[in-house]
Amino acid sequence: MPIVLRNGLVLTMDDRRTVLARGDVLADGEVIVAVGPDLEVPEGTEEIDASGGIVMPGMIDTHRHLWQTAMRGYGADWTLTQYFVWYYLEWGKKFRPQDVYAGNLLGGVEALDAGVTTTVDWSHGLQTVDHAEAAVDALEAVPGRFVLAYGNIQQAPWDWAPSADLRDFIGRRSWGDMLGLQLAFDVTGDPAFPEKAAFEAARDLGLPVTTHAGVWGATNDEGIRLMYENGFMTPETTYVHAATLSPDSYHRIAATGGSVSVSTESEQSAGQGYPPTWQLRHHGIPVSLSMDTSVWWSGDLFSAMRATLGADRSREHLEAHVKSETVTHCHLRAEQVVEWATRGGAAALGLSDKIGSLEPGKKADIVLIKNDASPVMFPILNPYGHIAFQAQRGDVHTVLVNGQVVKRDGRVGGVEAARAAVAKTVDHLMSELGDAWLSGMNPDIPETKILDNPYMYTDYRSS
Ligand SMILES: [Zn+2]
Repeated sequence: MPIVLRNGLVLTMDDRRTVLARGDVLADGEVIVAVGPDLEVPEGTEEIDASGGIVMPGMIDTHRHLWQTAMRGYGADWTLTQYFVWYYLEWGKKFRPQDVYAGNLLGGVEALDAGVTTTVDWSHGLQTVDHAEAAVDALEAVPGRFVLAYGNIQQAPWDWAPSADLRDFIGRRSWGDMLGLQLAFDVTGDPAFPEKAAFEAARDLGLPVTTHAGVWGATNDEGIRLMYENGFMTPETTYVHAATLSPDSYHRIAATGGSVSVSTESEQSAGQGYPPTWQLRHHGIPVSLSMDTSVWWSGDLFSAMRATLGADRSREHLEAHVKSETVTHCHLRAEQVVEWATRGGAAALGLSDKIGSLEPGKKADIVLIKNDASPVMFPILNPYGHIAFQAQRGDVHTVLVNGQVVKRDGRVGGVEAARAAVAKTVDHLMSELGDAWLSGMNPDIPETKILDNPYMYTDYRSS
């Protein structure tokens, strides 16, 4: 049955960034068939009242470790070092296939709830093929658009990427518009470049590579140089974070056409480096946004847009103040972060012809932001600013993916199934960890030395 969203403020995000103050979007089957005011629609079309709301393209998160959603908020006070120790060294191996399934199920539903219609599942917990099957089972159980970025932190990428197991797994499952595939691994900068075999496997399989690059203390310029000199930097490559790189590395990324997935909240809190959009803008490097992991944050690109504007502007002011200058005009605009959250993600995934904007012929991935009970949903004067700084996931009223309604009147499907699956995973991990459960969640706080204060003389108040 066709569906029309009526009388909304429509942000098409098309090439001309057309904004309709009052318009309709008509979807039929999997695609958008018309965008405009007062559309005539076929008999039997379902009508959704979008008045008072904003209709925009579904958002696209290009880097999220969905399997970690079962540990929601557990690592709120972690640094990246503590994250590495917990997942890579101590406890990651305790996640069974059903735990990956549970995390993916919850993370996928969470994304749809927030209006994120496409998510790259940066799935580096696939320590066996059974884990991979479970990951895909969950992605297929959630009616969102996903890209599985296959990874395995428990084994070297030059071992798992060229393996027959991986080839067989890829051959067994079906891939396409609703479920894409990439390989996900990092490059340590070892001069012997052992990752070369993993890149060659990706090339043989015809798959893009996504890699955490420019992560303080983990990956660096040497990894970029090795990728470049061996011919593995391509327009399909996604560089995640890219926060601690030299201008030379940024030049290499720009010259080879790749894009950077910026996870501002993650970079700010975990310590990969300063959120890099202020540098990427100068190098003309395409940007998409991502939420990284719900072990700290939630899968909500409203917060990514807000944090990215804040971090970029904060840096711009800081750099100016160091030179005793004043920023009178911000470079980064709200429209730009909305673009990164929609078109930017589509471009990073090579899906610009299918998603990222509301235009006839594109897939019907549509978000209606509308909340008549909210005092924050009016007046809507600057729609890009409204999305970036005013709206939030609770204002996501209706979401369509591939022409199907997956969230309606503020309610997303699949919550109860995810709740049941995740409860079992939490029980399992609590019993595996024992006493380490609480200590893992509550890392020690280093001592803070209160500085000597010359103004603490006693007659301050009496004078
Ligand atoms: Zn990550």
